[in-house]
Amino acid sequence: MSSTSERIDERSARQQVAEAAREIYDRRLSGAMDGNLSVRLGRDRVLTTPSGVHKGRLKPEDLIVVDLSGRPVGRHTGRPSSEIDLHLVAYERRPDVHAVVHAHPPMAIAYQLAGGRLSEVLVSEVVFACGQVATAPYTTPTTMQVPAMLGDFLACYDVVLMERHGSVTVGPDLDTAMARLDALEHTAHIYAAVKMMGGAEPLPSAEVDRLFAIAHPNSPPYRRPGSACPAAEPQSTPSGADADLVQAVLRSLGRA
Ligand SMILES: [Zn+2]
Repeated sequence: MSSTSERIDERSARQQVAEAAREIYDRRLSGAMDGNLSVRLGRDRVLTTPSGVHKGRLKPEDLIVVDLSGRPVGRHTGRPSSEIDLHLVAYERRPDVHAVVHAHPPMAIAYQLAGGRLSEVLVSEVVFACGQVATAPYTTPTTMQVPAMLGDFLACYDVVLMERHGSVTVGPDLDTAMARLDALEHTAHIYAAVKMMGGAEPLPSAEVDRLFAIAHPNSPPYRRPGSACPAAEPQSTPSGADADLVQAVLRSLGRA
């Protein structure tokens, strides 16, 4: 657990979050009004971005302190993000997490929607930067479905892409959570280019294991004995013609 993160004072946290929000907007990692960020200020206080504010113009004083149930604490003008619950579930499930970044990184979302698997390890760096990238099945944004689904994912993974929505990256501090968002989008750019050029085989699993052992010597949480982590890639839910085909095959096998 990072003692620097625990001691972060509210003033520097406000500055860091405003700068990170501007970076996300400048780099088009979210639309202007999309995404949200937070930093843990102490045991039961979280600094978060307000709802409905342009991320490129966010000022440190616009940020809101909330308690662990999402209720604003102290002086504030705006209201907390409608997606605050996905941040709170991360802090609740992971005492080591001190920053949460939710963004809508376009290439990562597009790659996943086009059938790409971001959980695959095509390049070694992704293991160092992100650990295991996981994709969580679709849930309706701003509803309690989101934290209900995400809780188990964030208990296990530091980088989670929510189907048809966006990313959640967590870390012991804001720089790490931002670097993981950067790495996710950078990886998706490479993977999409690979796919357009005809595809490539993932690294063999023995080499992936070796990379994890080097990058995460204390063992990644999803390999902790007794941990029950959701699969890093959702079961595909066939639709339309695919669903009909699957049903026909199942019928012919006498299973539907
Ligand atoms: Zn969102």
